Amino acid sequence: MSAEDTSAEIGNKIPNTKSKFLRLTTYAIRLFTFYFRQITEFSFIFAPMQLLDGKVVSQHIKSEIKKEVEEIIATGKRAPHLVAILVGENPASKAYVGSKVKTCAELGFASTLIAYDADLQEDILLQKIAELNNDPGIDGILVQLPLPKHISENKIIESISPNKDVDGFHPVNLGKMLLSLPTFIPATPFGMMLMLQHYGIPISGKHCVVIGRSNIVGTPMSILMSRNSEPGNCTVTLCHSKTKNIKEFCLQADIIVAAIGKPKFVTADMVKDGAIILDVGINRIESTKTKSGYRLVGDVDFDAVAEKCSYITPVPGGVGLMTICALMKNTLLAYLHNNAN
Ligand code: NAP
Repeated sequence: MSAEDTSAEIGNKIPNTKSKFLRLTTYAIRLFTFYFRQITEFSFIFAPMQLLDGKVVSQHIKSEIKKEVEEIIATGKRAPHLVAILVGENPASKAYVGSKVKTCAELGFASTLIAYDADLQEDILLQKIAELNNDPGIDGILVQLPLPKHISENKIIESISPNKDVDGFHPVNLGKMLLSLPTFIPATPFGMMLMLQHYGIPISGKHCVVIGRSNIVGTPMSILMSRNSEPGNCTVTLCHSKTKNIKEFCLQADIIVAAIGKPKFVTADMVKDGAIILDVGINRIESTKTKSGYRLVGDVDFDAVAEKCSYITPVPGGVGLMTICALMKNTLLAYLHNNAN
């Protein structure tokens, strides 16, 4: 509709008042209201970029969980108990498991870390999981992925009791998520939904492009964003390595979720003004500026993209922190569910 059409339409609705002055004033107010609505609807384009700060949000959610655990313990009950299983010496996996165990302590949870050598037999792991499944003092079991090649990840995931599968990777839990039934939602997508919820970002009706279709991040995220719930109700495009012209899809996106595992894959020329960017990637790149000789970057070219978007998660300090937070939420949920009586 052109400005002329708009004016004409608005003009037609002016009541036939006696005073010309009153009529003009009414007309001016209506015109102002119309343009104000248009401007506010698209104001995110002109607003400065806001950082979606995983530190702030996770701290807020963790303090709520901690308080709830304190209240439970005050009634004489035991604390929620998470068991983390690590197989092999993968440095990233060791770091992730270490953070999870540390967060358990911070929140008043009990935790047990079971570490195996990389040559562990699959049968031994299955036996240990069966033991933990039957232990009423254990609420959550997580097996840190990836596992060494000789162990079937699917077999291991399916062996965990769905009631203790706090990573939400068991087919039963993924199926429940698909049907919007109460369940454990995979921690990384769950963390991103908590982040969107915390900032109150309206996403209903928006076009979300998810890049990456892994079972633990991209695929569940595409489902959550398209579900008929809040946050959700997006129109979703799921891209992967066989997608042609990813840039064209990204340029149509109001929201981009990057979960590829390739440093700076999403560049500024792939992002439209005002888009919301959730960067899942955790990539180690060499750096002469750090003691360790490497630094972490996401799948998004942060500096360039931040200049164009409305919201963006940093790496580190964004989605990663939310993942741990979501895992803790799932563990508390498992505890409450398994100890309902
Ligand atoms: P993944 O299992 O390796 O999956 C990567 C996905 O990216 C696949 O679906 C793959 O497509 C797609 N892909 C690869 N190259 C592509 C290309 N050139 N164009 C388009 N798509 C491409 O990885 P993931 O486990 O989902 O993890 C993704 C990233 O997130 C990694 O950096 C990982 O470290 C990080 N991560 C972070 C957290 C966190 O808490 N922040 C949690 C989990 C993972 P195909 O399916 O066709 O192969």
